[in-house]
Amino acid sequence: MSDRFDYIVIGGGSAGSVVAARLAADSGARILILEAGYSHRHPLLDMPPGIFKMIKGSKYMRYHKTSAQEHLGGRSHEIPQGNVLGGGSSVNAQVYIRGRPSDYDEWHKILRGNNQSAGWAWKDVLPHFKRMAGNNRLNNELHQPDGPMMVSDPGHINEMSRWFVQAVQALGEPYNHDFNGSSQRGCGFYQFMNRNGRRSSAAYAYLEPQKNNPNLEIRLQAEVQRIVTKNGRATGVMYRDKSGRHHEVQATQEVIVAAGALITPKILMLSGIGPADQLSQHGVECIENLTGIGENLIDHPEVPIITTANGPYGYFGQGDGWRMLRNGLQFKLFGSGPVTSAGVEAGAFVNPLDPDGDPTIQAFCVPIVYLDRELAKSVKDTHGLTVTTVVVKPVSRGTVRLRSADPGEMPVVSPNLLKDPRDMQAMVAGQGFFIEAFQKSPLREKVERFVAPDPKDLSDEALIAHCKRFVKTNYHPAGTCRMGADGDDMAVLDSRMRLRGIENIRVCDMSAVPDINAGNTNSVAMMLGDRCADFIMGKA
Ligand SMILES: Cc1cc2nc3c(=O)[nH]c(=O)nc-3n(C[C@H](O)[C@H](O)[C@H](O)COP(=O)(O)OP(=O)(O)OC[C@H]3O[C@@H](n4cnc5c(N)ncnc54)[C@H](O)[C@@H]3O)c2cc1C
Repeated sequence: MSDRFDYIVIGGGSAGSVVAARLAADSGARILILEAGYSHRHPLLDMPPGIFKMIKGSKYMRYHKTSAQEHLGGRSHEIPQGNVLGGGSSVNAQVYIRGRPSDYDEWHKILRGNNQSAGWAWKDVLPHFKRMAGNNRLNNELHQPDGPMMVSDPGHINEMSRWFVQAVQALGEPYNHDFNGSSQRGCGFYQFMNRNGRRSSAAYAYLEPQKNNPNLEIRLQAEVQRIVTKNGRATGVMYRDKSGRHHEVQATQEVIVAAGALITPKILMLSGIGPADQLSQHGVECIENLTGIGENLIDHPEVPIITTANGPYGYFGQGDGWRMLRNGLQFKLFGSGPVTSAGVEAGAFVNPLDPDGDPTIQAFCVPIVYLDRELAKSVKDTHGLTVTTVVVKPVSRGTVRLRSADPGEMPVVSPNLLKDPRDMQAMVAGQGFFIEAFQKSPLREKVERFVAPDPKDLSDEALIAHCKRFVKTNYHPAGTCRMGADGDDMAVLDSRMRLRGIENIRVCDMSAVPDINAGNTNSVAMMLGDRCADFIMGKA
């Protein structure tokens, strides 16, 4: 194994896989990916419903536990993240959302400052979204059929999902055939990052085509501990292999940190780059005082409405006994049936408080009684429908801090979900809106009872209490090493994703974003990887 590369990418996740594959394919440079997790080649990861098993506990996930959240009555909750090549794109629910143009136009404004060439407006990022995804239905100014990541309509649509979409239309919302189209608003069926029921992760779409490229080496179960610096420049990386041995590898050009929004700040802080006062608390020598590292943690808060069904509708039991055999056979023989669905097919983007304004709430329709593992104990598995509501532009911000100087320890994560009253207000309105949808035909006729919230008391106080009890992550941590304009004290990166103050380091993952996009984040992370590769190769 060589110990000298041009570029070292820390973390082969959604963004890291793309930047590494593009550099390997197009730059002629030698690239090393150091990925802490496992190989992405496993049937459970390939099949969309595998996510339900992984959420319940799997080596392919890294489970962060938040610090006690005072505003939630001291509750702490889990934030699972991918622990596998492809990162989140290898374990996620595959819902394909880009956000809306104003998300990026806002970034552009934040980043522009005195630097007129920030280059993050919608017109700048759209070409990347467009060229990365091959869409199986749409071919227009926003989509095309031939990108490496395969995007498809759901392979299977459960009847519950159809009833949900009809009920939301009965509330006056338009049917939207493309949530990544000219308007986000309305209800409809998501598109997914898969084809014929097979996941199209960043690992499959970008790394697999490079598997015979001698310029790309991937080391798995290689946990990076810190970046090595000398005279204000990064020169390499220290990592620990699966047998516990320590290695140093050298980077002649750049170190690209892509370990995700919760671990990237930890690695930088362990390297002496971060808020000086915090580093000194843990005895880490500070070589660059970057106060923004670990600040500005943004995540999408999610709260469920859980109902049981009065008949055998939905996905309950489809993974057990003879049904599992039948569904498995259907998938194997015809590539169709429930196994092609990640368990969520339909959704909506609405603004309950101002129907003409931008959507404030995204909903996911999950045709089963569904909760993450820590909350699942509080409800019984059965036939039912869970509608989760998500605040798409939260204003609450959290933090990631070092727990200690020991690289083996997880960071202290405090996301502060729903802490800001504006987020709570949006969430309560969203809950009220979708509870109303359950009163509309054809959903109304299928619901047996509400498990939560309690329909006998839907006052704001009761809904706030429900939100505090159930709020959890939508799995989208972001913003902890954000880009910002020159002169912005909290900016960690410049608009080319370069770390401020130390040469030869870039951050290329969801940490880099100044604000979160409205909706799911995977395609955004992959777009960051594609842009970062262009920045490095001077193609932007
Ligand atoms: C359960 C779940 C469901 C989701 N559902 C959706 C969805 O349906 N649609 C959607 O668009 N988005 C979804 N997301 C979010 C999306 O997948 C993430 O936003 C995206 O993957 C983030 O990409 P990233 O590159 O920032 O980080 P990641 O993809 O998390 O990549 C970070 C990588 O770094 C590795 N790593 C961590 N620490 C180290 C270390 N010390 N050394 C080396 N490597 C390290 C990790 O193992 C990982 O591979 C979901 C995420 C999860 C977890």
